[in-house]
Amino acid sequence: MKGVITEIERFSLKDGPGIRTTVFFKGCNMACKWCHNPETLSVKPQLMVYPKNCIGCGACVKACKAGARTIENGMLHYDRSVCTDCGACAQNCFTGALVMSGKEMTVEEVMSEILQDRGYYRNSGGGVTLSGGEVSTQPEFAVELLKALKNENISTAIETNLYAPWSVYESLMPFVDLVMFDIKVFDSSAHKKWTGVSNQRILENAKRIADSGKPYLVRTPVIPGVNDNEEEIGNIAEYVGGLGGAQYYELLLFNPLGESKYDALQVKNDFAGTRPTKTEGAERLEQVAKRKSGLPVRVG
Ligand code: SF4
Ligand code: SF4
Repeated sequence: MKGVITEIERFSLKDGPGIRTTVFFKGCNMACKWCHNPETLSVKPQLMVYPKNCIGCGACVKACKAGARTIENGMLHYDRSVCTDCGACAQNCFTGALVMSGKEMTVEEVMSEILQDRGYYRNSGGGVTLSGGEVSTQPEFAVELLKALKNENISTAIETNLYAPWSVYESLMPFVDLVMFDIKVFDSSAHKKWTGVSNQRILENAKRIADSGKPYLVRTPVIPGVNDNEEEIGNIAEYVGGLGGAQYYELLLFNPLGESKYDALQVKNDFAGTRPTKTEGAERLEQVAKRKSGLPVRVG
């Protein structure tokens, strides 16, 4: 069995306790307009193009059998409409101008990268986090990978949007030590406007996770113009506190680093130029979140 993985990040300190390796799954069942990993939305491997890195050697033109990379009047052109995302050009481009996002990997291949760092997990109380994209969009692969991790006594966590049917989480839960999930927007119609889906199932799944006794924590991405106000964060925080038993509640400030990825994929970025909520505003939201949730609150 193979999964499509965009990245395996070693020595991560932000995806759960201790030193962790984070495995980013490709594919998502939501479409948040502010997503800072737009290359993870589609499950298919995709070509990302960074023209500034191109030295004009022409190797990609020779490699491309689809006619998507061409030279016209001495200028390099790329036609995404005929590109098959086969990756042949990227294999021949050594400057970083063409990069494939997403690679099919077996569980054994992923594990061989993970096992290099098992000493760090043990000494730091860390482990492995399955993230994305959305881990629940490749559930069979996720279960097999989680089983392999548990066979090696490695602590496991998932980061999820909680939008999959509950049956998917039931299949993952026996092999997961910590669940980290998002509640992004509280009002259901606003949630649909910004993410493409209603939050009804997410809130139902949140309740089920809390009732299951599995260790969990909740995060909210703080997005300027979407939910960076006291009423919205207060509503979410109150709901999170009411679930009972969350380790903590975390506010994740907007991450503008995805901008170059939108350009590389040639897709529209609705949040181009947006910057994170300023320190004063973030501190105010932190206080509201603490008061309404009754939980420890982190801002990241
Ligand atoms: S192979 Fe890379 S560096 Fe060479 S022309 Fe193509 S994109 Fe540019
Ligand atoms: S990914 Fe394949 S089809 Fe697309 S430009 Fe590169 S070689 Fe051509």
